[in-house]
Amino acid sequence: ACVTRFAPSPTGFVTIGSLYATFISERLAHQSGGVFYLRIEDTDKKREVEGSLADMLRTMREFGIVIDEGPSSPEEEIGAYGPYTQSKRVAIYQTFIKDLVARGLAYPCFCDAEELQRIRDRQQEQGVNTGYYGKWAIHRRMPLDQVNEALDQGRPYVIRFQSPGQAGRQCAYTDLVKGEIHMPENEQDVVIMKSDGIPTYHFAHVIDDYLMGTTHVIRGDEWLSSVPIHHQLFEVLGFPKPAYGHIAPIMKMDGQSKRKFSKRKDPDAAASYYQLAGYPSEAIREYFMTLINAGFDGWRIAQPNELYSSFPIDIRKMSVSGALFDLNKLNDISKDVIARMEAREALDQLTAWAAQYDQPLASLLAEQDNYAISILNLGRASGKPRKDVKTWSDFKPGYGYLFDELFVPTTAMAELLPAHVPAAEARALVHDFLHDFDAADDRDTWFGKIKALAAARGYAAEMKQYKKQPDAYRGHVGDVAAVLRVALTGKVHTPDLYDMLQIMGRERIARRLAAF
Ligand code: GLU
Repeated sequence: ACVTRFAPSPTGFVTIGSLYATFISERLAHQSGGVFYLRIEDTDKKREVEGSLADMLRTMREFGIVIDEGPSSPEEEIGAYGPYTQSKRVAIYQTFIKDLVARGLAYPCFCDAEELQRIRDRQQEQGVNTGYYGKWAIHRRMPLDQVNEALDQGRPYVIRFQSPGQAGRQCAYTDLVKGEIHMPENEQDVVIMKSDGIPTYHFAHVIDDYLMGTTHVIRGDEWLSSVPIHHQLFEVLGFPKPAYGHIAPIMKMDGQSKRKFSKRKDPDAAASYYQLAGYPSEAIREYFMTLINAGFDGWRIAQPNELYSSFPIDIRKMSVSGALFDLNKLNDISKDVIARMEAREALDQLTAWAAQYDQPLASLLAEQDNYAISILNLGRASGKPRKDVKTWSDFKPGYGYLFDELFVPTTAMAELLPAHVPAAEARALVHDFLHDFDAADDRDTWFGKIKALAAARGYAAEMKQYKKQPDAYRGHVGDVAAVLRVALTGKVHTPDLYDMLQIMGRERIARRLAAF
């Protein structure tokens, strides 16, 4: 069983990219019967954004990410491996740091910013850029009494890890996503504890992932270059290494070219963007499945009703260079997800969305729930008539007019009529239609009546009859439907007319046609 984690820094909103990486970690854990936990990496207090944790927890829950251990609210946490917030673990890190120092594997370094700059300048002059090698490394460079003297003087220091790395040696391992990796071994004495006593990311990562039992570290590939440092720390501390999988960021199309999402500039980089648009969270998860493994698409076609979680993901088969986030594909998947839902479930989700973003709509849905279900079914039925509700925000503009409360008849409706049907004739048509209308008619009987209405006005049954004599054109049977559609809805494009009439009920139909 895999133990995986999501280890965000509370520095702002959740992006679609970090949601994607989180989803992968969660799937790996849960498909293996393992544990997925949340750890808050808040060692850099300067970058912290107020409220991030609460926002993160809410977003995870709303997107259906199941967290087994970790903070469950800003005040509470669950699980036996805590605390799960790094700022509460400082004493733990310091214990390990003291041990490393005692064993001569780490040392206090008193270089100030100026001196570090001098070292960098000197290296640049010499044309080398190997970073800092601990000048203060005890015994290697600095006698112990000088170190003690600096400590006695109360000079500020950081703790550096004394790297055992050697030039020319390789850090080699098999990354779960990127495959065989060879990088030069780490030779730098990296800082593991800052002067305020707080560990750096590198150190906290190694201690926590060991103590919390992580088996698979799944994270963004911006961390790939840190692996040599992390491997070395695991080795020196005597901890077994977890497996690593480095995920390329998801990309978006920008004109003709692919690029990364910009957290600052792209509104669609935020996970909340997809909530506001009203994608069901299951659509996002289904879409992630297709991004992770190309094989999911075929599986889904063969198994339209299975839960996506029955498909085991394999991160070894993921794209190494970064999957493209394709909104059209997400839309198609979302339509399918909405079409597959139980009717009541679809209404509940629509209502929950409206409760957050459109309260008057939410009230309407609650008051007229059965009618709302019928309307919603018009927009999400598979095959005919059409399947075009892709997000909950599509509902009101596409179908809202079927509620009397949202139907706004206007004088402009006459402008929507077919060009050659004058308003007076349209009104007469509508009147005759209502006279013969019987809601119990089956589709064929109903259409027979429409054809009779057309014939009575000299409209042809088929357009092609006019091909030879265009001047004789007076209209055709489709115009009857077009007139009715405008009179009933004030729209030119609606769901199938017969289906709509079936759900509207005679009274509503009569009222709207009479007012036309
Ligand atoms: N706190 C790191 C981040 O925000 C986590 C990296 C990791 O998963 O190890 O990206």
